[in-house]
Amino acid sequence: MYERKDKKPLQEKSQLTSLSSIGEFGLIDRLTSQVKYHHPETLKGIGDDAAVIDAGNKVILLSTDLLVEGIHFDLTYTPLKHLGYKAVVVNISDIAAMNGIPKQITVSIAVSSRFPVEALDELYEGILMACNRYKVDLVGGDTSSSVKGLLISVTIVGEALPDEVVYRSGAAPGDLLCVTGDLGSAYMGLLVLEREKTVFKVNPDMQPELNDYEYQVGRQLKPEARTDIRNVFGSIGIKPTSMIDISDGLSSEILHICKGSAVGCKLFEEKIPIEEQTRKLAMEYKIIPSVTALSGGEDYELLFTVKQSDYEKIKDIEGISIIGHITHSGEGKFMITPDGKYVPLIAQGWDGMK
Ligand code: ADP
Ligand code: MG
Repeated sequence: MYERKDKKPLQEKSQLTSLSSIGEFGLIDRLTSQVKYHHPETLKGIGDDAAVIDAGNKVILLSTDLLVEGIHFDLTYTPLKHLGYKAVVVNISDIAAMNGIPKQITVSIAVSSRFPVEALDELYEGILMACNRYKVDLVGGDTSSSVKGLLISVTIVGEALPDEVVYRSGAAPGDLLCVTGDLGSAYMGLLVLEREKTVFKVNPDMQPELNDYEYQVGRQLKPEARTDIRNVFGSIGIKPTSMIDISDGLSSEILHICKGSAVGCKLFEEKIPIEEQTRKLAMEYKIIPSVTALSGGEDYELLFTVKQSDYEKIKDIEGISIIGHITHSGEGKFMITPDGKYVPLIAQGWDGMK
């Protein structure tokens, strides 16, 4: 608990800065601006999907994620088993985004007395299912009670050879901007679940109508991490120049790469891969389909750049789409619509502090 030692009167409320005014990334920048690294082994600290630590002939990758009930998940429609699975997968995704191999995790939970032991058994069933699926060892954690709700924090350790690691910072003008899989479905899954929740609140006898949207709901509740892409790169002999996983939405992640690499970009709207049913569902909700990809988030696909000279190697790989290219920073960061309009990219991704 923080207690003021100087006993001076608290500053006027108007002089204090609200969290919402600086946002999640502004807060991280502010809190970490004074950080100094004491060890030469810390090859990369704050600012990528995982920290990179020199361990002799290989590097250790280290990342952590916190999931908070009511902020990151809603237990009215999230089965605990799925939640456990997802909590692990989102961490594995950060290791995949560094082009590494996930190895070990620790899991810490804080639980209020409202949860019976059986509920936590279910959570762990999901956690272990992900550990088995991705060959990750659960090696520790911490357990606490909480005043309200459930919190899950997973820390992951991964591994890579030093020259295998891909950062957010290596993109250069002319590089091709690529993405795995399809985008926007996890967000539409969330909207479907939220809609069913509202219907259920009005009429609790109502059965949820989720069957038609199995893919979207599945993408939201039980995402997978693209650990397979590392092997694809290996087999076609490509090393991406930069990479990030799509947790907050395509727009926000592209801007992270542009900032990390000090470059601009051109993204072509019609090239963004969106599944057909997701496209239809978006129209039903009166949402422009590309917005589900740009601002939705939680797809856990990988966004990466490759040298233009790798075009022949990458162009026909199933499940990888070339969606644009990197430009000089002075050229700005734009999405180009099918009718040729230039729309500036802005980060409208999910932000827990808005
Ligand atoms: P991701 O979305 O890939 O999980 P984040 O956007 O959460 O990454 O974090 C961006 C960077 O800031 C990461 O390097 C992360 O480790 C770091 N970071 C986030 N929160 C904190 C914090 N409270 N203190 C120090 N570093 C942080
Ligand atoms: Mg990430």
